[in-house]
Amino acid sequence: MARRALLALAGKAAAHRMTPVDRAVILGIATNLGDSIVRTSKDREEERREEVRRLEDENKEIVAQLARLKAKHLKNEAYILRSRSPLPSKDACPQCWYDHGNHHQMKPQPSAEHRIDAYRCGECGYTETRKV
Ligand SMILES: [Zn+2]
Repeated sequence: MARRALLALAGKAAAHRMTPVDRAVILGIATNLGDSIVRTSKDREEERREEVRRLEDENKEIVAQLARLKAKHLKNEAYILRSRSPLPSKDACPQCWYDHGNHHQMKPQPSAEHRIDAYRCGECGYTETRKV
């Protein structure tokens, strides 16, 4: 860069409240280390691009984690609500209902004891005995 152009640049820099050191850098080091300053500027631009890629990846992971947490929160809320309410019917399987919100009827099973009835869920296998 020609000295005249550097002086003009230094004048503009002064108008933008640059310090004397800033002006000296423009006039001195810029002429001697111009190549390395250009390289440093390219390096910084590449570093910014890499940082943007890293932050975009991080944000994708954050969004995925938020979606997983929201799904878990909704599942927990649904379980809590089901647990605070009666079963949807007398023979509904409590395991299927409380754990998954599924309404499956338990069926009576043959029992060796006449005074106890056994009921079994055909879906999950949960078994419960009831006194007759
Ligand atoms: Zn069940």
